[in-house]
Amino acid sequence: MKAVIFRQHGGPEVLEPAEVPDPKIRPHEVLVEVRACALNHLDVWVRGGLPGINIPLPHILGDDIAGVVREVGALVNWVKPGDEVMLHPGVSCGHCAACLRGEDNFCPEYDILGYRRDGGYATLVAAPGTNVVPKPKTLSWEAAAALPLVTLTAWHMLITLARLHLVIQALFQWSGGHLHEFNAGGQRYGAADPDYDAPGSVQSERTKLMSAITPSRTIEYVYDFGDYWQHRIKVEKVLSPSELKLPVCIAGANAAPPDDCGGVPGYEDFVQAMANPKHPEHAQMKEWIGREWDPAEFDIEHINRWLAEFKL
Ligand SMILES: [Zn+2]
Repeated sequence: MKAVIFRQHGGPEVLEPAEVPDPKIRPHEVLVEVRACALNHLDVWVRGGLPGINIPLPHILGDDIAGVVREVGALVNWVKPGDEVMLHPGVSCGHCAACLRGEDNFCPEYDILGYRRDGGYATLVAAPGTNVVPKPKTLSWEAAAALPLVTLTAWHMLITLARLHLVIQALFQWSGGHLHEFNAGGQRYGAADPDYDAPGSVQSERTKLMSAITPSRTIEYVYDFGDYWQHRIKVEKVLSPSELKLPVCIAGANAAPPDDCGGVPGYEDFVQAMANPKHPEHAQMKEWIGREWDPAEFDIEHINRWLAEFKL
């Protein structure tokens, strides 16, 4: 087949057209005739060479691929020769703990088409059958090829306000059992609840964080309309998804008021009662919370262990 290869790392000048053997597919793979392959910055990094990453040479770049299935392996029965497809670029083992959690990009064997295995700068490419995505008829070959890897990056940016609600709940170690509402730039966003009449409120499950913070860099968050815990969230900087994989608490002070303690006045009473063994409500409060209470306690490692349960 025809391909554009490189035999050594470097600038665009190391790329050369070449005639190379057709890829041989394994039973779980498909062979695709490439109709279009987009350029991705990964191509530039791989061509230039990455510290500590061994790229087998000569190498064929290209991770964003659209084409027509020419051949399918014996284990692949959901696509057939002639199907017009796009290729999901992430390749993983499919059976390790990370893969089974659905976090295949954390797989120890994670690879990307055109990264350490040959990609789409060629007339043919081999890929796992599970990576095949049907190409919508409405998309041109070029548009279809422009989507795959970029879509994965964009997908990780699609964090909803409902997810931010869960992160705040983890920060305060609350149960999340009460209603909440965000207000960003005058628009209110809440949970879908048939018993909660919130005219003008948009469902936070359907609102992307980025769309809410773009008009207003400050968001108000209220949790529990009885206790009415009011928070002001200020957006200081937006990092790219690759820079941050987990929510992290970097600083704080004092204990979070316990869920259901009665809001600000209730928490003041609670702190006073807990601090004074002679207080008439001391025993009752201590039984309710089940431990001693230090209002100045702030354990950042404990909070970050909770936050580590999230992925962005
Ligand atoms: Zn895996």
